[in-house]
Amino acid sequence: SSEHVLATLQLSLQASEQQRWAAFPMLGDGDVTDGELQEVRNPAQRDDVVGKVLEATADDVERALRHSAAFAAEWAATPVAERAACLNRMADLMEANMAALMGLAVREAGKTLNNAIAEVREAVDFCRYYAAQIASEFDNATHKPLGPVVCISPWNFPLAIFIGEVVASLAAGNTVLAKPAEQTSLIAAYAVRLLHEAGVPRAALQFLPGRGEVVGAALTGDARIQGVIFTGSTEVAQIINRTLAKRGDDTVLVAETGGMNAMIVDSSALPEQVVTDVLSSAFDSAGQRCSALRVLYLQNDIADKVIKMIKGAMDELTVGNPAKLTTDVGPVIDAEAQAGLLAHIDKLKHSARAVHQTKLSADCEHGTYVAPTLFEIDNLSELKREVFGPVLHVLRFAAADLDKAVAEINATGYGLTHGIHSRIDETIADICGKIKVGNVYVNRNIVGAVVGVQPFGGEGKSGTGPKAGGPYYLYRLSRAAWQPKLAVAHA
Ligand code: NAD
Repeated sequence: SSEHVLATLQLSLQASEQQRWAAFPMLGDGDVTDGELQEVRNPAQRDDVVGKVLEATADDVERALRHSAAFAAEWAATPVAERAACLNRMADLMEANMAALMGLAVREAGKTLNNAIAEVREAVDFCRYYAAQIASEFDNATHKPLGPVVCISPWNFPLAIFIGEVVASLAAGNTVLAKPAEQTSLIAAYAVRLLHEAGVPRAALQFLPGRGEVVGAALTGDARIQGVIFTGSTEVAQIINRTLAKRGDDTVLVAETGGMNAMIVDSSALPEQVVTDVLSSAFDSAGQRCSALRVLYLQNDIADKVIKMIKGAMDELTVGNPAKLTTDVGPVIDAEAQAGLLAHIDKLKHSARAVHQTKLSADCEHGTYVAPTLFEIDNLSELKREVFGPVLHVLRFAAADLDKAVAEINATGYGLTHGIHSRIDETIADICGKIKVGNVYVNRNIVGAVVGVQPFGGEGKSGTGPKAGGPYYLYRLSRAAWQPKLAVAHA
């Protein structure tokens, strides 16, 4: 019942259970032996040590690679029904452990309670979606697994993306080496423990926490790896791309990366709806979503009114401890992220035409917070790369310059999400036809992935496709078993 979930959540927020969990999967289950022990701290309260993570050593990586390669054929031969059953059991186990997982999402990643619920639900949806897909339309006769693959994930959806990558890879019949983000290894460790409990053999899924440039680089550079499933920054995806190019084989790379996501609002839009959607798209999760709104284009005739309303709504946001039900915006992930965002804000304060910021609450002294900030700027080229936090950049455009606005957005080279607010069908169709992004949201907020409903992925600097949570994803994590040419020599 919801009362039970809330009561357990209180307990897990207060500590203890995670402390027990923290080092356990790494220490007790044998994937990692004697690496360095790293403390994980609560971004909302830096003196709260959530747990400790044992980093994988070079020996651990080598042993895991050996086990993964040795077990690949056996896991590939496991009937799809059996693999699907593991995924469905995992979904049930996550639901049964909802409170503990939410507690970790709040304490380790600074998620608000609403975001933490959504996080677990999305992970559950990924399991049930891919299980249903392999049970119905995907089998070993038509698709051959790749072999050992590496799944590398970011901290901003520490459960949903970690699980999405891992269970898709397992569903397609690959053995998996999972490398979580440094900042959020505890919730990933908890999830791995549940996947083993759900019946995934230990050799099919090994967990290797540690630094990206060390553990991630060792894994992606190894010739035994047949696929790299990556979600994170464009810069790291480019490093991995170069590593694979040097290897010169046909290793598959699936990369989901950053964005410079924009929304175009014309003067036919409904201002109240625009404001609600802009606030949630730009500041939910403290703007730490790959899909989050960064750049708002407002048509001149509506701009003053909408900007005034957005500023008013920003003043109503509560920024503070994400464990409180009344909090809208929690902390950013760590001191490094905070420093980078504050430097960006300081720089733009000098050149921007106008600035507006939400006030921080007293809670914010204890953690790494950044105030939701709105800048009015003149030129999109002032933004060189993704700004990963609660900062919204507003530009004005004249009705005759709609095409120019679309061209500027396309020229950033990113292509993840785009929003449109308009009540003119021709304008909507025109923008949809010209904008180069993976995901468009019309007259609503930008939400990112909705498993099975809105598969998610980007173009250009934002990703390689195919879209996660959609029908084609598993095909990319496997090879077609049929041959386009007859493999028989002519007599
Ligand atoms: P990041 O690129 O810094 O790290 C992602 C992962 O890569 C981590 O696990 C990290 O340890 C690992 N890594 C770092 N260097 C590596 C290397 N040299 N070799 C192999 N692995 C390495 O990203 P982050 O800060 O964790 O996450 C935020 C970024 O992720 C943002 O850019 C965001 O837009 C992006 N993101 C994209 C999507 C999407 O679906 N398109 C979803 C979520 C996040």
